[in-house]
Amino acid sequence: MATTDRQATTLALAHALSAAERGLAVIPLARTKLPALRSPHRDAPALQPFTCHGECGRFGHGVHDASTDPARIRALFAAAPWATGYGIACGLPPHYLIGVDLDTKSETDSSAALRELALRHLFTIPPTVVVVTPSGGRHLWLTGPPGHVVPNSAGRLAPGIDIRGAGGYLVGPGSRTRHGAYTTAPGTSHLPPAACPPALLRLLLPPPVRRTGGGTVAGGRGLVQFVLTAHEGQRNTRLFWAACRAYENGIGPELLAPLLEAARTTGLTEHEARATIASAARMTGHRP
Ligand SMILES: [Zn+2]
Repeated sequence: MATTDRQATTLALAHALSAAERGLAVIPLARTKLPALRSPHRDAPALQPFTCHGECGRFGHGVHDASTDPARIRALFAAAPWATGYGIACGLPPHYLIGVDLDTKSETDSSAALRELALRHLFTIPPTVVVVTPSGGRHLWLTGPPGHVVPNSAGRLAPGIDIRGAGGYLVGPGSRTRHGAYTTAPGTSHLPPAACPPALLRLLLPPPVRRTGGGTVAGGRGLVQFVLTAHEGQRNTRLFWAACRAYENGIGPELLAPLLEAARTTGLTEHEARATIASAARMTGHRP
């Protein structure tokens, strides 16, 4: 049975509201799986989206629009009547959701890769919510501890395994996209998202930054290097991640200038880089 767009929107909103009831912050998604609402700043080159994370009061800031407030969610969907799905923001309280995205498109079997990781690092994936994607991939929902920023990564853990962390989102079950519907795997929809096993969490977190004497920071160089080696599509994410680690380890202010310089070397403007570092500071509970 074909589902009309209007029905798809109504269904997506209903699913989004029920996710919000479970404490998951949501945004409307288009059939493309991208945020349904475009940036209100897209025509103002001087004010790119990354400089504003919603402070302007309008919708269209991607995952920064995400909310658990039913009135705000209804307003977001009313502003995007073409939405057929919803995204669940990762890394936010109270769940600090981490998505383990097991791809089926890759050559290697990502489920087998995860089992191998689990054997090698002595953890077991607890029973948790599993979302099946239209291509047969699976998203495992785990929760993280507060105070740690799990970065997004693609294939870093193992080929075919992507991680959705802070600043990322997961397509919610009940969403319809161009390629089909996202559904919950049988028997998992009633489960609460389970805590990420500590051994797996250690693999997801960037290596700890070690302080050496006199304000010289060996780990800081690693963070700067991490930004310097970013490809075009990862510049902003890597800068955000590195800045979060710097602030978490109390070297944010010291690393500000080196990180800015590294970001400019990769092609970000100073304005963009400063905005990203400022949001990393806020995210980790520091003053930018
Ligand atoms: Zn704005």
